[in-house]
Amino acid sequence: MNELIVIAGKLVVAADQDGSVDVVDDGAVLVSNGAVAAVGSARELRAEHPYVPTFGGPGFVALPGLVDSHHHVGLTPTQLGVPSESLELWTLMLMQCAPVDPYLDTLVSGLELLRSGVTTVQHLASVRDDPAGPADADDAVLRAYADLGMRVSYSVGIVDQNRLLLDGEQSIVADLPAPYNQELAAWLTGRASAAEQLARGYHELRKRWDGEAGGRIRIQLAPTNLHWCSDEALQLVTAASEADGVPMHMHLLETAYQRVYGLRRSKRGTLGHLDDLGVLGPRLTIGHGVHVDDSDLDLLAERGVSLCHNPSSNLRLKSGTAPLNRYLARGIPVALGIDEAGLADDRDMLLEIKLAYNVHRAPGIDTRVPTTGEVLAMATGNGARTTPFGNAVGNLRPGARADLVLVDAHRLAGAHLSERVPVADAIVHRAKPEHVHTVLVDGEVVVENGRVRTVSEEDVFGEIAERMAGPWPGREDAERRSRMLVEAARRHYASWLG
Ligand SMILES: [Zn+2]
Repeated sequence: MNELIVIAGKLVVAADQDGSVDVVDDGAVLVSNGAVAAVGSARELRAEHPYVPTFGGPGFVALPGLVDSHHHVGLTPTQLGVPSESLELWTLMLMQCAPVDPYLDTLVSGLELLRSGVTTVQHLASVRDDPAGPADADDAVLRAYADLGMRVSYSVGIVDQNRLLLDGEQSIVADLPAPYNQELAAWLTGRASAAEQLARGYHELRKRWDGEAGGRIRIQLAPTNLHWCSDEALQLVTAASEADGVPMHMHLLETAYQRVYGLRRSKRGTLGHLDDLGVLGPRLTIGHGVHVDDSDLDLLAERGVSLCHNPSSNLRLKSGTAPLNRYLARGIPVALGIDEAGLADDRDMLLEIKLAYNVHRAPGIDTRVPTTGEVLAMATGNGARTTPFGNAVGNLRPGARADLVLVDAHRLAGAHLSERVPVADAIVHRAKPEHVHTVLVDGEVVVENGRVRTVSEEDVFGEIAERMAGPWPGREDAERRSRMLVEAARRHYASWLG
């Protein structure tokens, strides 16, 4: 049997939705065949298993591997030349980005995620609705995660309408000059239907990849947003999710414009409409959920829907601030996601945790604000439960997978850290990627001494630099088309918010 005892001065076994944090001082985890076999005091576990090799030591804080519950790409839009902008314009600006090799791109963000202690990522895949598009792009992304040794929930995106605007894109396309109007009109009509996307992008992919890489890869669904999906598509995706018992992740009510759109589509608004279609339920996680009112929150709580909170993205794309305290007050499970890129334009989950903790500190002495335990739960167990892995990750209780992070306690403390400081406070307030010493996934070391062991960062960066150097074919046209669409969209939305 492949066994190992991981020792830590402070062992965080789990952080739960109610903010409670289960900590063992001078603790240890017995890892057996990649799973947590036992948790307890280091002295006792060593005495019971004297021949099992040990790892870590009293100078470490051990945590369950973190879960980034909303992720898209490697090179960030900023790196590709697109600044932060209102979401409605920004999505059109992304059309001018240089194409990036999907395998290398995934390695870039995977390296950053692992170094900040993320062992599981909810990867919201690019929509594959081009029947002539490369058939192997999803495989390339999944191969990258397998090579990194990371755990991934791969969410297949489904879009079957309104690709350019929340509504009325045909008239905007017609207004563009030739040849862009004809090109775009042809592009829009040539997209695969939701049923075709489900068949090729989900069912076939699931057959090939679900449970691969030693069970570290799982496949689930992402009806991408209300405006992007017809009622028929939403019902098809929900039926597939129900039949296969897989979760769904859906961007929703991210901007004020999306709220207006929802009210135009249905008298009951975005969430009421989804409820009418049977989409709301415990298998659904909504991404962003910024523009919600009390009745929306009541409905989400009643249906058992989770939120994935994306604070960096909401700030960067001028979306607003999700009312996190009102979600938490209703007991709605909240996960945490970095989205395209965090505040520092990278994938630093420890910084996202700090932002989630600090941005909702409502003024007043007795106001309800997130606790450090609640924020840790968001970044671990709550995130895990938005993926097919469920309670098998995001905690270190017996039976869970041995995905864990060892933080150097000495570096975390700096010059001094009072013994009175609870470990959850120390992590939320002070932990940085450079304090992450070791990361294990399935009991295997993927980060050692702060360096990713599975993939060479120098090689990946070198190859990306080489491939991205110089002009790429079609660049000028892509930039021109994108600029025209952005201006058309600016005019289109001018009166939406009254
Ligand atoms: Zn997103």
